[in-house]
This record gives sequence, structure tokens and C-alpha cells, in this order.
Amino acid sequence: MTDKYTAFVSHGWGRDLAKRLGLPQPVALRRHAPGERLPEPVLVVGSGPSAGVLAAALEDWGVEVRREGADDGGASPQVGPDGARRSKLGAVLLVLDSVERPEDLSGPVLAAGRALRSLAGCGRVITVSRRASTADDPAVAAARQGVEGVLRSLAKELRAGATGNGILLAEGVPADAASVLGALRFLLSGRSAFVDGQFLTVGTDGGELPEDPERPLRGKVAVVTGAARGIGAAIARTLARDGAKVVVVDVPAAGDSLARVANGVRGTALQLDITRPDAGERILEHALGRHGRLDIMVHNAGITRDKLLANMDDARWNSVIAVNIAAQLRINEALLASERFGAGARIVSVSSTSGIAGNRGQTNYAASKAGVVGMVRSTAVRLAARGGTANAVAPGFIETEMTAKIPFATREVARRLNSLQQGGQPQDVAEAIAFLASDAAGGISGNVLRVCGQNLVGQ
Ligand code: NAD
Repeated sequence: MTDKYTAFVSHGWGRDLAKRLGLPQPVALRRHAPGERLPEPVLVVGSGPSAGVLAAALEDWGVEVRREGADDGGASPQVGPDGARRSKLGAVLLVLDSVERPEDLSGPVLAAGRALRSLAGCGRVITVSRRASTADDPAVAAARQGVEGVLRSLAKELRAGATGNGILLAEGVPADAASVLGALRFLLSGRSAFVDGQFLTVGTDGGELPEDPERPLRGKVAVVTGAARGIGAAIARTLARDGAKVVVVDVPAAGDSLARVANGVRGTALQLDITRPDAGERILEHALGRHGRLDIMVHNAGITRDKLLANMDDARWNSVIAVNIAAQLRINEALLASERFGAGARIVSVSSTSGIAGNRGQTNYAASKAGVVGMVRSTAVRLAARGGTANAVAPGFIETEMTAKIPFATREVARRLNSLQQGGQPQDVAEAIAFLASDAAGGISGNVLRVCGQNLVGQ
């Protein structure tokens, strides 16, 4: 689905006109394509040991790295030691995991700030810091929480498709843990094009980097519900592109388009209404019977039945709860009861920014999508015992048939209300899910990753 306005202001006189009138000027985002090179050079800012560790990891990936200590008093990354102007920066990595007082932020943060004018279009700013909630010392907690304030504000200042995101390390997780490097790679790449102003928390040292970063899901079997169209179809294609064998699930009425998606990804189709009491057992039976295993469960199927609460009827309320959350709970229970949904299992559920920030006319939908957040946090604890993870993604405005139904004026406002000034694509949600489903994300569980271009509503 195209956004005609973005196409119009991206070229020629449309661009000039938008500039003159001060209209939003969204740019076409850099998205992942096979063979993608990570943006470079990456300026690594920060003087602690983790900065060196992360710079070395980037160099191992073949990425050009520049270093800037926090204390070199205003050196500009735009000018080299010989006085010659340097090329644009692909990314700035701001390593702040050892800050202990708010005053510790000033050196590295201001150094990163000086580099921002050199950041290329669709560049990246990524912070690496520690989770504040586990710090005993108020000054340490203040410094760490300060990083989150910096990043969220900075992301709102970036332009031209550049994004700012952060990686939060739990206590004891080293900067070179597999999931930290996995998250870093994801956030640098075009896979995270519409993820902006967000944090991924790495809770454990678990996870494993793939041998082939282009095929991180090789050998895995994944199930995607609601895959006949929209975001679900994009998830199926993305997981298959990344090497997984995919089972696509949708209601029997969507059987024809489901079969087309299944053929397109060389997977198999399962016509199933997920609200059936035996849906979990049917999914297991199909995946194990046809493909011998089940590693990844993606709960994407969802419906809206919007009405103000004052006008809400039983049918609208109950159908949304039944599809969007009750079915997921029942399916997870069946999967968790099976030993075949085993080591390294992944559950990724689709929530919504409406479930986080609330949305007028969507009490039923928000109850279900907030429910997804509660469910994954609790399921994450249960899955940890078998080395599995449960996470959610919360899309903001995504260009699909669901959002195409929104009246024109409301739609136009809704899709501009984020830092990237445009709607996301189904692929953007799919990429985040593919990352969370990968072995590299083994240390990331109970997270809710918003894919919303830093929607101005909510966090
Ligand atoms: P969509 O309506 O285009 O597709 C949803 C699919 O789910 C359809 O193919 C439908 O047949 C299937 N489905 C519905 N009920 C089912 C059931 N009982 N059993 C099996 N399949 C069922 O929606 P979409 O825009 O692609 O959204 C996908 C998910 O993303 C949903 O959970 C939605 O709530 C969520 N989401 C979408 C947006 C957006 O902007 N489009 C934003 C936030 C969250």
C-alpha cells in the first residue's frame, strides 16, 4: 500500500513545495534487502571498556569504525586529523553502560550531539546502557534513567529517516553478549526502519548469533496466524526469507488467499479459526505431522470492532477478546503442555500501540492488546525454564487493509503523528518479529517492542 503524499514530497517540485509551506517531509526509509551492508562508518562514543568491545565487534563484521572518547573536548567527527572533511556517518553508537551519576552523561552525550550534523539520511543513533530499575544507588538509577530520556528526545530531533533506539543491559549481562550484538545488528540494519525511540532489554547472557546473518532462521519451523493477508502474510514471507519453514493459518473463508501465501513461501496452509477450543492441538498436530517440529509461534490474527464504550454491545466486545487474546492464551497453553514445543521455543505476539496508550472507540481492542502485553510478560517466565522466550511487538500505524478503511482525513493525520511522519509497512512489523524469533534474541524475553516510528502517543 503506497503513501501518495510521501511519494509526492520526495521529488522535484513536490519536495520544494512541502519545504516552502513547512509541511511534513517524510523520506523513503532504508529497508532491508538481501545482501544489505550495515551503515558505516559507525562513530563509537564512550570511554568505558564496553565501547572497545563493541567497536571490535563492529570491525569483525567488516564495518568501518571511528572512535571518539568522551573527553577529547569538542573534536568534530566531520573533520579528520589532517583537516580534511570526512564522509557522512552511517551511525553513532553511544556506549553509556558505566555511567554512575547524571554528570557522567555530559561528555559522551554532547560528543554524540556534535556528530549528529554528520549523520547520513536513514542513519542510526544507538545507545547501550544498563537498566535503571535494578540499580540500588539513586544516583546510578538517575544516570541510567537519564539515558532513556536522552534517547527518546534525540530520536524526535533526528530527520531524514534517521532513527534512535537503545539497548538496555540487565545487571551482569556483558556488552558482547550474543543478544546485545544481535540487537545491535538489527537496530543498525534496514530491518528496524520503522522502529524509533525504543529500547530492547537484554535480560540474560543467552542467545546465539547465526552463522549466516542472511538466514538466521534456517532449520526452524514457524506458525503464523492471520497470514492470508496484511501483516500476517508479510510475516510469513519474511520468516521464509530468513530460512524458516512456515505454516500459515487463517479462517476457512480466507482459504484461497491463504493457499497463495503458502505457495509463495513454499510452506503449508492450515485453515483454522483460532477461537476453536482445540486450535492449539490442531496447530501442533499440523506442524509436527508435516514438518517434524515447531520452534516459533507468531500470534498475529486480530480483529477490530470499534465503538465508544457507551455504545458497545456484547458481540463487539466478546469477539475482539476471543480472537485477540483468549485464543492466544489457549493456544499457548496447549503448546506449553507439549514437550515438543521445546528448547529455544519462541512466542511472538502482535499487540498494538492502542493497547499501550489507549485509543478512543477501542476499549475492547485495547483490553485485548494490553492483555497481550500482560500475557507475554507472564509467559516469558514460564518459557525461561526451557530456554524459550515470549515477546510482543506493538505496531503503530501500518499501511494495510485494516488502516485503509479509516476515513481519509483521520488516516492522513494518524500516519503523520510519529517522528518519521509516515505509516509503516507490514514488512517493518515482520522484520521485528523475525528478529525476536531468532536465536540471536535468546537473551530478550518479556519485551514489548513498538514498531511505530516513535508514535507521539504513549512512550
Ligand atoms: P488484517 O485484517 O489485514 O488481517 C488479519 C487476518 O487475521 C485476516 O487474514 C483474518 O482473516 C485473520 N483472522 C481474523 N480472525 C481470525 C480467526 N478467528 N482465526 C484465524 N484467523 C483470523 O489485519 P492487519 O492489519 O494485517 O493486522 C494484523 C495484526 O496486527 C492484528 O493483530 C492487528 O490487530 C495488529 N495491528 C495492526 C495495525 C495496523 O495498523 N494495521 C496496528 C496495530 C496492530
